[in-house]
Amino acid sequence: MSIGTAESLRQGARQRTRSCATALVCHRCEHSWPLEQSVFICPDCGKGLDVVYDYELAARHFAEVAPAERPHNIWHFEELLPIVDAGAQARVGRYAGYTPLIAADRLGAELGIANLYIKDDSSSRPSFSYKDRVVSMSIARLLELGREEIGCVSTGNVGTAVASLAARAGVSAYVVYPNRLENTKARGCMALGAKVCQVEGNYDEANRRCREVAEATGMEFANITLRPFYAEGAKTAAFEIVEQLGWNAPDHIVSPAAGGTLSSRVHKGLIELEKMGLAETESTHIHIAQPSGCNPIASAILAEEAEVHPVMPETAAHSLAIGAPGDGYLVIDAVHKRGGTAAFASDPEIFAGIDLLAATEGLLTEPAGGTTIAVLEKLAAAGRFDSDETVVAIITGNGMKTLDDHPPKQWPAKIDCERDAMMTALDELKASESLMDAARRQLEP
Ligand SMILES: [Zn+2]
Repeated sequence: MSIGTAESLRQGARQRTRSCATALVCHRCEHSWPLEQSVFICPDCGKGLDVVYDYELAARHFAEVAPAERPHNIWHFEELLPIVDAGAQARVGRYAGYTPLIAADRLGAELGIANLYIKDDSSSRPSFSYKDRVVSMSIARLLELGREEIGCVSTGNVGTAVASLAARAGVSAYVVYPNRLENTKARGCMALGAKVCQVEGNYDEANRRCREVAEATGMEFANITLRPFYAEGAKTAAFEIVEQLGWNAPDHIVSPAAGGTLSSRVHKGLIELEKMGLAETESTHIHIAQPSGCNPIASAILAEEAEVHPVMPETAAHSLAIGAPGDGYLVIDAVHKRGGTAAFASDPEIFAGIDLLAATEGLLTEPAGGTTIAVLEKLAAAGRFDSDETVVAIITGNGMKTLDDHPPKQWPAKIDCERDAMMTALDELKASESLMDAARRQLEP
């Protein structure tokens, strides 16, 4: 889907997407740069950059093509995405994004939430996590720049998304993994053809060093030098949720937080839908879920502080183990403006959250998803949701990738392949505790 306009001249002979992006702007001092410029951090104040749009033009373009005629992928709302080169866009993310919004009746009944939905990014293509959304933007931007190599630093899911989307686009991928990662994810990266470099040090240390490597070598990093573009992919989750609810914004969104990209850009996405006149989104509350062992954003929110104090992560939720979250201050601002809150969950509660989602909705999520469900349980128990309100919980990653890290379930001894022995074993299994009961027992206050 592309249009020919005068702006396409600026892009040489390339066909232009319908993107209405206009500039890069600093989060804090509002310094701005042309979209074409390779800049990812404000040289004046050191803060990150945001992509801004011509919302009037975007609303006009959006009205020209009915939602049903738009691609059901990451580019569904291309007017509000930063990629202008149609050729680059066509090579990335054709099957990414646009994940199901699942009416979670059985989980809702367990938690006492009448209108509960799961935004299921654990089923995202191609790499089974929400990172497909953000990395799609990075890879498309890389192609716009005419580059053929991409690096990233990852707690797990960014790596698999980069490996997968880069392979499809014909780009070489280099993944830097810090300590204590989920092994299956690193093996997944290599199986997809990425070159993997493991470093001693946690995510925050690896992230700092990768920035130095990027500066010294000129290599683009998906979640560092391409960050303004990367971050834009996250807001597509908000666009989809509102459209999937019939252009009604939910009353509450519960999101896990690591670096803070997802929840801060869900906030941005809701604002943009309001600016476009597509939905009234002002009253949506955003709540943050973090593990007890790495909760710098949640702690700052609960202490009513404007800045995050870094922590040393110690949690089984490796994909949330970012102790110095780059977008933490944006999350605090978003939660504050939207009248939301934050809560955290211990490792046993996180795994009980995984089990409860599995036993009720048949969805196997990773510890980040378990964190969200455990926090959802706490917020419901604390009376944060009225009975007529709509609640959406975002499940960001797939548990098939992290099974090696889950506490082992009791595994019955092998028996003879013989009828009576099998019937006896079946009776014993019937008498054993169900996954649901075990999860409820763990989550009880
Ligand atoms: Zn600035």
